[in-house]
Amino acid sequence: MKTNFILIAAALVITSCSQPSAEVEVEAASREVNVYSARHYRSDAFIYDAFTEATGIEVNLIEANGDQLIERVRADGDRSPADVLITVDAARLHRAEQAGLFAQTDFSALIPELEPHLVDPDQYWVGFTLRARVLAYSAERVEAGDVSTYEDLADPRWAGRICIRESGNAYNQSLLASIIARSGEDAAEAWAASIVANMARPPQGGDRDQIKGIAAGICDVAVVNHYYYAMLANSAQEADQEAAASTVLLFPNQDTSGAHINVSGAGIAANAPHPEEARELIAFLFSQDAQRLVAEMNNELPVIDGIEWDNPILQAMLPFQEDQRNISDLGDHNETAQRIFDRVGWQ
Ligand code: FE
Repeated sequence: MKTNFILIAAALVITSCSQPSAEVEVEAASREVNVYSARHYRSDAFIYDAFTEATGIEVNLIEANGDQLIERVRADGDRSPADVLITVDAARLHRAEQAGLFAQTDFSALIPELEPHLVDPDQYWVGFTLRARVLAYSAERVEAGDVSTYEDLADPRWAGRICIRESGNAYNQSLLASIIARSGEDAAEAWAASIVANMARPPQGGDRDQIKGIAAGICDVAVVNHYYYAMLANSAQEADQEAAASTVLLFPNQDTSGAHINVSGAGIAANAPHPEEARELIAFLFSQDAQRLVAEMNNELPVIDGIEWDNPILQAMLPFQEDQRNISDLGDHNETAQRIFDRVGWQ
């Protein structure tokens, strides 16, 4: 693993102060980029190694959760060493944008193959992996065609049959934000209230636990990110494989709005000490190498057409229609979504 951590890099710089000047020049000549990431996936270490291999630019990685990273870069202000900020979920990218943490970047010029709905219209950040929030239903207790949209889940026929995680989670906030964007606040509130009424149990656990809930007979339908199903299906554990096998994955709203999607995204920090290296790193996130790694190791969907990757479980989910609305809308409606969750008593 060639990736360094900032603290180590800082220690090296301090050490080098007492070294002869020739060594200091070597230090200054080496190229590096400071990446603050809320993604904790094994795939990313391989991506950074491949980037260093391809460009000679060392990656110094700071990992923390999205809110911590945002707070840290904000608190450090113009002294922040951050070059690239990476988070999951469009709402967090929006929050970082609102806090003034990103520099505007001409992403369309940097990555010409980009699909416009995955780029912030103000050009502060860009999505580089895609995740769909989809339905899983019991292969035994639900007939094909019984459910085909998120809206269907509001029907009383699903009373006591839905597993879904808590509302503090960004995935559900963004799903509700997409419904607000599409149908308005009142319709979104009515939908959320009906989901609460139809829950099989109080929200608990992560997305994988909702699929396992179906396998255990606790509920008949669940709302999950597609890659959790792929993780279970691709797992070495027999129980995981069985949980996936007992459910059918369904991409909803195929004849209407398209499946709700979200992204992992990146932007260049407003005070980036290495803006050119930051541009190169962000461009690399869209390369064949990087896009293949997220699809093969993390079961996320590439955002660039024509990427070659090998993951039969993920491949079997394609193609599907995705919501074409710009994902920046999710951040715009995030606070409204949280207020609705509170009003309808979605834990
Ligand atoms: Fe996740």
